[in-house]
Formats: sequence, C-alpha cells, structure tokens
Amino acid sequence: MCGIVGYVGNKDCTEVLIDGLSKLEYRGYDSAGISVLENGCIRTVKAQGKLKNLEDKISAGECFKGTCGIGHTRWATHGEPSDINAHPHGNAILSIVHNGIIENYMDIKESLKNDGYTFESQTDTEIAAKLLDYYYKGDPVEAIIHVLGEVRGSFALGIVFKDFEDTIFAVRKESPLIVGVGDGENFIASDVPAILKYTKKYYLLESDELAILKKDSVEFLDLHRNTIEKEIQVADWDMEAAEKCGYEHFMLKEIHEQPNAIKNTLSPRIKNGLPYLDGCGLDDETLKNFNNIFIVACGTAMHAGVVGKYVIEELVRIPVTVDIASEFRYRNPIITEKDLVIIISQSGETADTLAALKLAKKQGAKTLAVVNVVGSSIAREADMVIYTHAGLEISVASTKAYSVQVAVMYLLAFKLALINDKITEDACRNYTNQLFEIPSVISAYLEEKEQLQFIASKLVNADSLLFIGRGLDYAMSMEGSLKLKEISYIHSEAYPAGELKHGTISLITENMPVIAVATQKSLFEKTISNIKEVKARGANVILLSSCDSKTKPGMMLLIIELTFLVQMICLCH
Ligand code: GLU
Repeated sequence: MCGIVGYVGNKDCTEVLIDGLSKLEYRGYDSAGISVLENGCIRTVKAQGKLKNLEDKISAGECFKGTCGIGHTRWATHGEPSDINAHPHGNAILSIVHNGIIENYMDIKESLKNDGYTFESQTDTEIAAKLLDYYYKGDPVEAIIHVLGEVRGSFALGIVFKDFEDTIFAVRKESPLIVGVGDGENFIASDVPAILKYTKKYYLLESDELAILKKDSVEFLDLHRNTIEKEIQVADWDMEAAEKCGYEHFMLKEIHEQPNAIKNTLSPRIKNGLPYLDGCGLDDETLKNFNNIFIVACGTAMHAGVVGKYVIEELVRIPVTVDIASEFRYRNPIITEKDLVIIISQSGETADTLAALKLAKKQGAKTLAVVNVVGSSIAREADMVIYTHAGLEISVASTKAYSVQVAVMYLLAFKLALINDKITEDACRNYTNQLFEIPSVISAYLEEKEQLQFIASKLVNADSLLFIGRGLDYAMSMEGSLKLKEISYIHSEAYPAGELKHGTISLITENMPVIAVATQKSLFEKTISNIKEVKARGANVILLSSCDSKTKPGMMLLIIELTFLVQMICLCH
C-alpha cells in the first residue's frame, strides 16, 4: 500500500505534490501520477517506474498551472505496474487516488458494466472512481457516502471534482490518512513525511470520517454529514523518524504491520466465510486431483513452505515436498504434469526460485506463485498467482512477509481440503474464521513487549543456542533460528526435538540456552520429555507454549504463553 499526497493552497501544486511523493519514496512504489485542477479541467499525468519518469513527462508536456491537486505512488495490488494502472483514476468529472484494496470490486464492476460503464485498467481503484461517478449528481459528499456504503475493504481515498476547483475530499477505512494544516494551505497524505517540509500540524483521519479541505479551512464529517471536532496533532519527529513512523527501525515497524498485512492478504480471499481464490486463476477444477505438491523457495519463504507442508498434508492428504530452490534446480527433480509446484517469494525476483519455477514448467507441472510484488518475474512466469498484500518490506530480515506467506499456506490448505472433499463446508468455514482472527490476536500480543525484552536480556550474551520443536513447532523454530542468526549474529540451530538425542545433545551446556516450542497439544508431552533431556545437561530453557498442562517441568527460565501461535498452529489439530 503506497503513498497519497494532496495539496490546496496558493503554491504551484505540481511542485508540492512531486515533492511530497518523493518523501514517500522509502515506502517503495512501481508507478506514480498526479491530477491537478486547472481552469475548470482535471489534468492528469501518470508514469510507470520511478518518480523521475513522471517528472520527465511533466516537463516534456505543458506544465500544469494549478493550486489544488492529488498525487499517488502505487504499490500494485490489482493489475501489473503500468501507465494505465497507475493512479489517479477517473474521468473529466472527478479523479481519485487510492491506497489499499477494494475487496468487492469484481461485483461492483459487473453491475457498473450493466449500467454502460467501460474500464481501461485492471485496478480495483478504477471501479471506485466509476462508482463515484455513477452516484455523483452535483453533491460530492452525497456521492462519497453512497460509495462508502457499497465498497468493502481497507482503503484511503483522495478525490477532486472538476466542479469544485479549490477543494479536496478525503476519506478512509483502516488504511492511514492524515490531513496537514498549514497557513493558507492544507494537505492530505498517507504518511507524515510527505508534509513535514510545509507543516508539523496535522489531524489523524479516522475510519469512516470524511475530510473536506479548502486552502483556508478543513471540515470533518461523519457518514451522516454531522460535523466532527478533532484534536490537532503536532509532529515532533525529524524526517528519518517520520519515515519509520516513530519506530526505532524498519524491522520493528514491519513487525507491527503484521496484523494489517495478514488482514489485507486474507480479506479479499474469503467469500461467505470460505476461501475464495478464483481471482488468482485457481478454479476448483485446476486444484483437484494433484498427485504431489512441491513447495520451492529460499530462506524465510522456504520456512513458510514447511508450515504449508504440515498443514496441507494434515488436511488434504496429498504428499508435499519442500525444496530449497538452489537445491531443487540442480537435483533433477521428478515432477510430472499431475503435480503442483508452489513457488514462494517475497520479491518475486529470487533468482534460484525463478529458475526452479522455469524448470517445473518445463517438466509440465502446474505452477502457483505466492509472491508479494505484483508483476514481478515469478508472478508473470507462473500459471497462477496468489499475491500476498504485505506492502513493501524494507528490512532485509523478513517478518511480515513470512506471516502473510504462512496465512496463505493455511488458506490454500483449507481450499484444497474443501474441494478434494476432505473437510466439510462447515469445518472449512470454522477454520477460515479462526484464521481471520489471527491479526487481532497478534495485535494484542505485540502490546506485551516487556516480556520479550526480558527474554532478549537473558540471551544476549549467549554464543550459541538451540531451537527445538516437533511438527509445526519445528517449522516455526527454523524461522526463529534464522531470524536470530540474521539479526543478532548469535549462532543458532533449529532441531526437531526428537532428533536431538542422536548426537547433537552432547553440545548442551549451561552456556547454550534452548528455546523449546511446544504449542501443539498432540505433541506437547513428547516435547516436554525432550526438554527434560536438555535440562538434565544443564541447559537454560525458554518454553514457548500455551498448552495448559501440569507436565511442564519446573525451573524453566521462562514460559511464554503464545496464545496467538497456538491459535494459528493448532487450527488443524
Ligand atoms: N489497489 C490499488 C491498486 O492496485 C492501490 C494499491 C496501492 O495501495 O498503492 O492500484
């Protein structure tokens, strides 16, 4: 989800919009565009790629002379990055910029087509623009309220109308949007850095609130047109802190973005309480009757694949093999046209993974990509794509991208199980509901950072440590161990808890802490036995569990009650 900027004042708004968009560059984007109100007309220019491409287009054409306009940098979710799919979208009457996802855009598109509308882009945004046009009869607020009554999803919108040359309208649902207040000028932005150069004062727009900005006034309305009084905020951040939304670093910011990322990934894919993957090219017929499934990926994405293996095998009873892409492509794998190869990659550009995908296609397998970047090489190459909607991940160590990949693995497992008659519709609905609760459970857990800081303080001086777990707990341990190595430079290994005794246990001393993950009821006592083995050799153990059992051995360094993991992991047990 990317950047929105809007300006109304006395300055040349093209300059302010481009400057604001450049301040949002750290969020990453694939295209950009602006609409400026000029002499009673809406002038729009858009360009795929860097902001420089947009600037070049603007300076090559006539410059726009206007003091009110909106701008956007796009992180594609619906339709590849291209000039046509770039925002703003609209027509001669109105123009909109949009962050987020309109979930029911397909249904709205169908009904608008029946009313004679045609569409040129592949975006969900264009549907919102045309719907707004459909309801607009001279009163923008009326039209916006109608649209909000119809669209589902999480989104922020900035809108200008030809007939209202000095006004910006803005509204949001879940996706962030602020209203900056200057002296004789006002702004909208998806993030504070875009306006910091001009003002430090801003209002936070809440969900289902509408803002109407003119150069000398800002008015807020609820969806019944009642005026709302809001408290002004003052940003005391410098530019760098503002980019990180006040977090110390991008990784921490992205950890806190997990709940929204999962929600954005799941909600467009659930219809009537059931997994809905039709828009991804995955019709039921295609998904039936595979002999084998291969999941191929690297690093963190591969670990999400291991979770996928456990869940799919448990629910669907099809053999699943997880492969590291750099091994798969050179090991002459045995794949046939009756197999499904799932390729997971955040960027969609991972070289070994792309090569593995090409190999699988050459051998006739059906290929399904799970990627975050729309229009990336892997997304283009694969037969079918499920996009994760995590937004840009700036931190090199992946966090929210892993969470959304895991969420997709679960959703896919539910879908496969349902269409292969392994679970009933009721059971599937129940699983899907539980999965959809995960974002709020994660949000609650992220509030408890003191406990996590305490554990970190116990581990900080270790040279080496072990993660142990069984089944899904082992899958998660693999990712935990990788993250620890990558971030703290402390050596660690993830081990299947039952395998430890075949040699590696000899390394255990009081200087090698053990993080034991035991969240699955069915394996809890087995893992507890393994914990006793390492404790007997002096290890300090941190147990991650929520299984309420009296069998937990005493003298544990710390027991973390991981309710959210258990909810996620025990769905199928
Ligand atoms: N869903 C919209 C699109 O794909 C907006 C994406 C964004 O937030 O940048 O164009």
